[in-house]
Amino acid sequence: MLTNDQLDKWDRESFFHPSTHLAQHARGESPNRIVTGGKGVFIEDRDGNKLLDAFAGLYCVNVGYGRTEISEAIAEQAKELAYYHAYVGHGTEASITLAHMVLDRAPDHMSKVYFGLSGSDANETNIKLVWYYNNILNRPEKKKIISRWRGYHGSGLMTGSLTGLELFHKKFDLPLSQVIHTEAPYYFRRPDEAMSEEAFTAYCASELEQLIEREGPDTIAAFIGEPVLGTGGIVPPPAGYWEAIQKVLNKYDILLIADEVVTGFGRLGSVFGSDHYGMKPDLITIAKGLTSAYAPLSGTIVSDKMWKVLEQGTDENGPIGHGWTYSAHPIGAAAGVANLELIDKLGLVENAGSVGKYLNDQMRAAIGEHANVGDIRGEGMLCAVEFMADRDNRGFFDASDKIGAKIAGAMVERGVIGRAMPQGDILGLAPPLCLTEGEADKIVEVTADAVKSVL
Ligand code: PLP
Repeated sequence: MLTNDQLDKWDRESFFHPSTHLAQHARGESPNRIVTGGKGVFIEDRDGNKLLDAFAGLYCVNVGYGRTEISEAIAEQAKELAYYHAYVGHGTEASITLAHMVLDRAPDHMSKVYFGLSGSDANETNIKLVWYYNNILNRPEKKKIISRWRGYHGSGLMTGSLTGLELFHKKFDLPLSQVIHTEAPYYFRRPDEAMSEEAFTAYCASELEQLIEREGPDTIAAFIGEPVLGTGGIVPPPAGYWEAIQKVLNKYDILLIADEVVTGFGRLGSVFGSDHYGMKPDLITIAKGLTSAYAPLSGTIVSDKMWKVLEQGTDENGPIGHGWTYSAHPIGAAAGVANLELIDKLGLVENAGSVGKYLNDQMRAAIGEHANVGDIRGEGMLCAVEFMADRDNRGFFDASDKIGAKIAGAMVERGVIGRAMPQGDILGLAPPLCLTEGEADKIVEVTADAVKSVL
């Protein structure tokens, strides 16, 4: 077995880590944790640390670590047939079963599932389908996509453009010109403190409508949004938001893409965020919770309305020229089937709703009154704590204060992994959906202790 020193050396010499400060990592200034195992909500590393993972990896290990039902399904599939492609009508029992299971759980008006590998490629697929759809309908100029500031939709060329976070645009010459951004549904940071939640919802809808009018409704193809903003700070929408937004979209015949990479398969305490908020999307993006990250797999769920047009398009133009070698990979599909069965068997959607609420309530009770805690918010098994330099006078921390990173660092020292969200002043929590109340207590206790030690 390689020594830790050897691995550390090879890591810094050879491994290009995503979303990492490359120079600091090369100099050995950033942590280098080698993860070796996991069970339930805990992971273990080579140094013998056992940590409660209150972010479920990257909010994806929804059923928790070490589920043999899924690893055995993967092993069986690999033994039987590790790979065959899904082009021109090919499939496997696993991929066909998974498509059926996803549709069974999806809102009624959805029709088919296209499988990819990551949330990013699924959103790339979505945009291509939207463009194809409008070309078939003979509206070639209806192509622009509206996204929100603070939205996160991936880090490809198009998806990085859709993402409304500066970090993912900087020095990459993004966003692309077909992408425009509108107001984030972020009530805590409303433009006028006196605004009620209802007034803020109306403001977001009006900003959207003005943007559409300015750009020209005939040029706008789709609006993409996460039911709850995730990487942008874990922000549930203000009351009535999705209803108000959909009214505007319907008025101008603009498609809705619900990016449910985080919210799909139970995180909000409902199977889909679309059901949770009464959204009627034309496309739904799924990834993370589809396999609980036991194997890479994503998907695009297509509505009846779009499917009819896509089908007609192939009669007119021949096969749709879009596919990945690994679309509907049998190993990912087998993991997906076992994962969705396990979610049902363990009642994890309900658990996410009830224990998630408990986590949020306990967090409010423990640190809600702290002078530097501006907001505690969440929905289902999502919770965020936003810190403020001066709560009474609405004074915010600078990103350079790195307050979220300091709190998350103090938490790791105490055995719990939280996530410093990219804005700098927000701590994010998104534990596996199997969290117990006892484990939620531990997260709250450690967060409160970390806050006390840093602020
Ligand atoms: N969409 C949302 C809402 C996400 O949170 C993410 C990743 O966190 C993505 C898309 C991109 O997924 P991936 O990292 O698998 O490409």
